Amino acid sequence: MKPSLLRSDTQLNTDSYYEASVQRPPVQPPLEATVRADVVVIGGGYAGLSAALELAERGRRVVLLEADRIGSGASGRNGGQAIVGYACGMGVLRAQLGAEGARQAWALSLEGVRLIDERIARHAIDCDRVHGYLYVADSARKARALRAEMDELQRDYGLELQWAEGAAVRERIDSARYVAAAFERLSGHLHPLKYALGLARAAQAAGVQIHEHSAARRLQQGAGGVRVDTDAGQVQADFAVVAGNCTLPEYGPGVLQPIHARIMPVGTYILATEPLPRALADSLIPDRAAVCDNNVVLDYFRLSADNRLLFGGRVSYTTMTPPRLRETMRARMLTVFPQLAGVRMTHLWGGFVDITMNRAPDFGRVGQRVYYLQGFSGHGVALTGLAARLVAEAVCAQSQRFDLFTRLHHRPFPGGPWLRTPLLALGMAWYRWRDALGW
Ligand SMILES: Cc1cc2nc3c(=O)[nH]c(=O)nc-3n(C[C@H](O)[C@H](O)[C@H](O)COP(=O)(O)OP(=O)(O)OC[C@H]3O[C@@H](n4cnc5c(N)ncnc54)[C@H](O)[C@@H]3O)c2cc1C
Repeated sequence: MKPSLLRSDTQLNTDSYYEASVQRPPVQPPLEATVRADVVVIGGGYAGLSAALELAERGRRVVLLEADRIGSGASGRNGGQAIVGYACGMGVLRAQLGAEGARQAWALSLEGVRLIDERIARHAIDCDRVHGYLYVADSARKARALRAEMDELQRDYGLELQWAEGAAVRERIDSARYVAAAFERLSGHLHPLKYALGLARAAQAAGVQIHEHSAARRLQQGAGGVRVDTDAGQVQADFAVVAGNCTLPEYGPGVLQPIHARIMPVGTYILATEPLPRALADSLIPDRAAVCDNNVVLDYFRLSADNRLLFGGRVSYTTMTPPRLRETMRARMLTVFPQLAGVRMTHLWGGFVDITMNRAPDFGRVGQRVYYLQGFSGHGVALTGLAARLVAEAVCAQSQRFDLFTRLHHRPFPGGPWLRTPLLALGMAWYRWRDALGW
């Protein structure tokens, strides 16, 4: 098999603060036999783990196959920001689903955030959960756009938030960079890898059989069921749930070819500082909220439980790690918080976000027995849990809520596997320039 850029980038994960701050359980043994299950789940990120858990709680026998380690994909590397709503904004959903469909989708996104808290409480998952979210804008044009978006969420969807402009912004965040901010308490953040490992533990306790280092290489479906082959074993099941995200085509080129072209891997990166004195950390973001700006290439950041600043940003549309990543990430952080100039960076890592053309999530079926969940477009911390509940309902013959999402139209990225990357990079470069120039 040819070397994979996506997988070689997993080296970056060895520098992850998240990996350094958890004690992983022993490796779950690879699949080395033919086993029978009601449902086979492909992928041990939030989507696969939560689907396996939901299905086991409904009495299904579930086998979960993970090509690498649990949480080794986006779920163990992300910014930890659990956000209400959708990356595409409500306008895309309203245009495609109608006003009532969009309201249902909004309510489901709230359910997705609530589900995190329910699962944390029910399964005693210790993952540093914090509520509070701050949307910020760094130019007058971006402030107008943020205001319009927040007004819509307040008016049409009842989101409660507090708006701040000018000097009042400094009460929420000690940065001169931002001219406007909106604060709400539904969204928030958590330690993503602790959450993923907690979900895995809960799934196993509910009876899910997990196999790590067990890439699904081939998936076939027939009238009688599905069959998934790994290098050393096979699962025969009534249904399959495919939740392999960006690396799916690399590990299992024979798994669901038709859907790969509808998502595109975009690299994004996070640096961690050394632990800050508590008073300094509290002064940066007094509510300890997760923060995100509304630029096209956005900065997203938050404080960890041990008072580090975890600062995310930059993108790669080529799947290659950007040059001078450490210096440029630090420079970005200092434009927001120049008061951290003397602070040491201890970790820097990255991963791939699965974006769709219109940034709406892409859930569906291929045939009668294979379901897939992908395209979370940077909103997967909360949306994966919801998607998992909906797919579990659908497998158990209640597909009404799942089918709200199958009504969304998705187009493949133009240019096929080779040209889609340069085409997207070109398009995004234009928007980046607009942000940089404050247009
Ligand atoms: C750096 C970064 C920051 C982010 N920040 C945020 C954020 O702050 N908020 C937010 O909401 N979202 C964020 N995201 C996105 C979010 O992390 C994802 O949407 C979410 O984790 C997707 O979960 P998943 O289960 O679909 O995929 P993943 O977590 O990627 O899991 C897929 C798993 O499938 C496995 N796999 C692939 N192919 C196969 C195969 N053939 N056989 C078996 N296993 C296979 C992979 O090894 C992987 O473990 C971020 C992502 C990144 C990378």
